[in-house]
Amino acid sequence: MQHRPVMLAEVLEQMAIKDDGIYLDCTFGRGGHSQGILSLLGASGRLLAFDRDVDAIVSDVALAMLKDKRFTLSHSCFSALESVVADEALVGQIDGILLDLGVSSPQLDDPQRGFSFMQDGPLDMRMDIGAEMTAAKWLSKVDEKELTRVLFEYGEERFARRIARAIVETRAEKPLLTTRQLAGLIEHAVPKREKRKHPATRSFQAIRIEINKELDELKDVLQQSIQVLKRGGRLVVISFHSLEDRMVKQFIRNESGAKYDPGKLPVKEADIAQGCLVKRGKPLKAGKFEIEQNPRARSAIMRVAERV
Ligand code: SAH
Repeated sequence: MQHRPVMLAEVLEQMAIKDDGIYLDCTFGRGGHSQGILSLLGASGRLLAFDRDVDAIVSDVALAMLKDKRFTLSHSCFSALESVVADEALVGQIDGILLDLGVSSPQLDDPQRGFSFMQDGPLDMRMDIGAEMTAAKWLSKVDEKELTRVLFEYGEERFARRIARAIVETRAEKPLLTTRQLAGLIEHAVPKREKRKHPATRSFQAIRIEINKELDELKDVLQQSIQVLKRGGRLVVISFHSLEDRMVKQFIRNESGAKYDPGKLPVKEADIAQGCLVKRGKPLKAGKFEIEQNPRARSAIMRVAERV
C-alpha cells in the first residue's frame, strides 16, 4: 500500500511554511509530508530530508523529488541530525522540523522486512538494513529478564513474563526465525485477548522499538533539534504510541518555561530565565474523516513547540 501522510494539513499549518524558509523532514518515508512542504516553498526555500531506511532513499518518489534543486535527501538516522544540518552550514537557521515517527506503510507491507505479524517473513524488523541486530538474532540470545522488561516497558504488555518464558522455552528446541512462528507462539502464551487487537501487537511493537533503539533515537533528535532551530522555528512531532508521546510531552515541558521551583523562595533572577521552547497549543489528533480514510491516523498525536 502507498503511504498516506498523516495529518498533512495540520503539519503544513503548524510548520507555518515561509516562502524562503529552511525545513527539515527527519522521517522522509515516501515523501508525503516532504512534497507538501516543497509545494509551499518559494524558489529560495529549502528542504532537507532524511530517513534511516535505504528503501525510502531510493524510492521512485525520492528520485523524482531529487530533480528539485531545493531538496536534499540523506540516508541518516535521527542521532545524526546535527551533523546533517552542519554539513549544509545551516545550524541555527532551521525554520521547522518534522518528525513523523514509527514505520511507514511500505515497511509494514513488505513481508521481507519482518515488521508485521499479519504476513510471514523473516524476523528482521530493522529500519536500517545495514544495522547489525535483527529481531531473530536478538531473540536468540536475550536473557529472559531483559526480554520481559522490553515487552513490558516498550509494549506495555501485561503478559510480558509469560510471553518471555514461552520464547525462551521454544528457542531451546528450535530457533525462532519467522514472524508467523513468533506470532503463533504469543497467541498460545497469552491467556486473554484484548478487543480488536491481535495478541502479538504489543510484543511486535516492543521488539521493534528495541531493535531500532527508537526511544534513544527520539531522545537524541529532540535534544539536537533545539540546537539547529532558529528563533521562532517550529518543532512538529507526530507520535503513534504513548511512550513516544510521553517523551515528547516531557521534553517540551522540560525545555520550556522558567526553571525555578515555585515551592522554593526566594527566586533568583537567573533562575527565571526562559527555557528554549514554548509549547504551541494543545496536542492535536486526526479528524474523523481522515481516520475513516486512513486507519494509521487513529493513534496519531501531534505536539508542536516553538524555539524562543
Ligand atoms: N512522513 C512520511 C512517512 C514517515 S514513516 C510520509 O509521509 O511518507 C516513518 C519513517 O521514519 C520511516 O521511513 C522510518 O524508516 C523513518 N525513521 C524512523 N525512525 C528513524 C530514525 N531514528 N532515523 C531516521 N529515520 C527514521
